[in-house]
Amino acid sequence: MSELKEYKCPSCGAPMHYDINKESVTCRFCLNTYDQEYLHSHFEDEIDEKLSDFDWVDRTKYVWEPYETDKLEKFVCSSCGGNIVTKSFYASAKCPYCKHYVIISSDLDGDIRPDKVIPFKVTKKEFWGKYTEYISGVKKAPKEFYNKSVQKDIVGYYVPVWRYSCTYKPEESYVLNLKDYPILANDVDVKEKVFYSLMPFEFSDAEDFTESCLAGFCASRYIIGAENAMKMVDHVLKKMYNDDANPQSKKEENPLDTSKKIDKLLKNRLNKYVQNRELSYYLVPVWLLKITYKNEELYYAMNGQTGQMYADRIPKKTKESKKPKYDLIDWMMLLIILQIPILLLAPSGVLNYKVPLTAVIIQFISFFIIVVDSLISKRKQRKTTIKEPKIESIKDFITKL
Ligand SMILES: [Zn+2]
Ligand SMILES: [Zn+2]
Repeated sequence: MSELKEYKCPSCGAPMHYDINKESVTCRFCLNTYDQEYLHSHFEDEIDEKLSDFDWVDRTKYVWEPYETDKLEKFVCSSCGGNIVTKSFYASAKCPYCKHYVIISSDLDGDIRPDKVIPFKVTKKEFWGKYTEYISGVKKAPKEFYNKSVQKDIVGYYVPVWRYSCTYKPEESYVLNLKDYPILANDVDVKEKVFYSLMPFEFSDAEDFTESCLAGFCASRYIIGAENAMKMVDHVLKKMYNDDANPQSKKEENPLDTSKKIDKLLKNRLNKYVQNRELSYYLVPVWLLKITYKNEELYYAMNGQTGQMYADRIPKKTKESKKPKYDLIDWMMLLIILQIPILLLAPSGVLNYKVPLTAVIIQFISFFIIVVDSLISKRKQRKTTIKEPKIESIKDFITKL
């Protein structure tokens, strides 16, 4: 059974969390803050036990290469004693009863310990602000997307990533230099299209990994190991070279799910034309909101370091909804239509002259409101611009010599 860890407040015993603004671990109840040194001595934070010459590239054959995504593990919550059942790749888990996060130390220890972590810089409040701004620009969004309860589903997520650099030289005159490409090492919750739209992460701001950073956050460990991660990139580099050599042969490949991808990689060898490999293991911060609407999973995410946002489209409310709601524009249109008979009857002299005059004034006011309303909603839609998903972002990390 794996070892659990929880940062409980030394003063009041409540579970603590990592405070993004204070950059340290804080108690929500008595508001005490504790620095790294204190945490090290009081919580026996693990230190990096990897040897000083440890190199992921050389050690790939010896460190664990997992590829199970469905295996479950069971823990007992140290706060409330409730059972926590979670997939084995999570390095922290939320207790379903007391809602506190516990850290699963065995997923962060020894040979599989992350080298570095990029701590969250952007708060949940900022993510929520940008998300609601985006939603307000969408007309007729279903209530599942703007309910206050949506806020509860936002997860601060530490995503495992391999930082990879190498040189690919299949012939003397053809060299590709890849620098600091983040290879997504677990794509179960944060999908590739979401992750690569949040680029870039500033690796230079990363800190040495400490578990206390994860207090109050969700985290997972890699399921695509060091060797397979490198094979994945080798494959892309080789394909780029082939495409350049025979531009006619370009073939689109279907994206594979993780287990198929790994099955395919296991058969391959590391490419002999790739040199100067450098690999290190990072956790990077992502705010994630997943909304399931009519059996479709939609993702809204933010780079927790830079604030770069990703958003799936918001579906329109369909006609099935019980109470059709009319907006201002619909009412104004109705008013204009209702007054047409009055204006048609006016020349015949049947009506008192004041009635058609009032109708004309109402028509003008209605038109004015329609124009103003449409200008406001257009401005709202323009306010939040969100980057289009860009999967082939590896090209941004390559220089061709
Ligand atoms: Zn406390
Ligand atoms: Zn609990």
